[in-house]
Amino acid sequence: GAERTKNVLILMSDTGGGHRASAEGIRDAFQLEFGDEYRIFVKDVWKEYTGWPLNDMEGQYKFMVKHVQLWNVAFHSTSPRWIHSMYLAGIAAYYAREVEAGLMEYKPDIIISVHPLMQHIPLWVLKWQGLQKKVIFVTVITDLGTCHPTWFHPWVNRCYCPSQEVAKRALQDGLEESQIRVFGLPIRPSFARAVLVKDELREELQMDPNLPAVLLMGGGEGMGPVQKTAKALAASLYDKEAEKPIGQLVVICGRNKNLVSTLESLEWKIPVKIRGFETQMAKWMGACDCIITKAGPGTIAEALIRGLPIILNDYIPGQEKGNVPYVVDNGAGVFTRSSKETARIVAEWFSTKSDELKRMSENSLKLAQPEAVFDIVRDIHELAKQREPGNFPYLLTSSFTSLI
Ligand code: UDP
Repeated sequence: GAERTKNVLILMSDTGGGHRASAEGIRDAFQLEFGDEYRIFVKDVWKEYTGWPLNDMEGQYKFMVKHVQLWNVAFHSTSPRWIHSMYLAGIAAYYAREVEAGLMEYKPDIIISVHPLMQHIPLWVLKWQGLQKKVIFVTVITDLGTCHPTWFHPWVNRCYCPSQEVAKRALQDGLEESQIRVFGLPIRPSFARAVLVKDELREELQMDPNLPAVLLMGGGEGMGPVQKTAKALAASLYDKEAEKPIGQLVVICGRNKNLVSTLESLEWKIPVKIRGFETQMAKWMGACDCIITKAGPGTIAEALIRGLPIILNDYIPGQEKGNVPYVVDNGAGVFTRSSKETARIVAEWFSTKSDELKRMSENSLKLAQPEAVFDIVRDIHELAKQREPGNFPYLLTSSFTSLI
């Protein structure tokens, strides 16, 4: 008979830009692959349904990453499993009703978590509700290397790891081989499927058609030494003798409005575009020749797809640290905290060392996994098919929806 549309609830939080980007990537891939078979909800359930501290992760995250040492301590002191599981189980008990209401409003057949703190509580709620066997729960990890152990929960149906290294950690943390899949980090299909032509993009974005271009950014919040680096680039990309620029600069500040206005108030000797939060990242990346960014997994994975050599100039301690060797050891970029050094490298790439730029660009493309997001949704689709009523006669399938 006609199949019922299945509900998919994606749990995310607007901490940084990466979780939302992954969540929206998964949503879009479901729609492209399966159309009306699935109805997708992307929700920050904590924010909408619970109280402190769960409803203000954004605020706490922003506060903590501004005070980097504090975040460092928070990250590492919550690493031992018994600490975070007791803490989260406690919160789960306290907010059980609210979380349950939040989850159940969407009558999910499938729950996808793209956040390190969204395993324990919903899985407990499903268990209490006797829904563990009926609702598929999967985790999609969005950190490339050193990820927090709260990502790993033994009750999940699947844990999608972006790299072999993360898969190894998952095994060490008690997940079974059969629960783990390694497809890569999910990126918005607009990156994977778009056919973009650099010349056309430059015209559309009103950039100089001829000068090589460097993209400078710092995640969704515009973090890291962006301002200092922009100034250093303005100097290094200006040829004083010839009195003309050898490159152009695009700065994407994300939600950091102060950064936009500060940069806009400065005088520039080279062509510069200063932007706030951009929704068309694939285009900006496609129009540029290399990128400077903190080690955010989303930005890195996107840059690899566009074949951009990457200069990593910062990382959030803890979860982003492992992203650095992922890029550097694979020859797709370099790491330096010095703005001067960064500016020098870009100037060389745009003049004497264009061969190095080209080689790194090729290495970037080799690492890219544009199909990951589609592999993930296809695998979830297979899981859902196995759960279909006919295959599970012992479930009271007719009362399935009323149960929820
Ligand atoms: N991003 C965006 N527009 C902006 C700035 C960032 O869409 O103006 C996206 C970017 O393309 C990436 C994500 O936000 O997908 C940033 O994620 P990342 O993991 O790099 O860092 P986070 O912001 O999560 O710390």
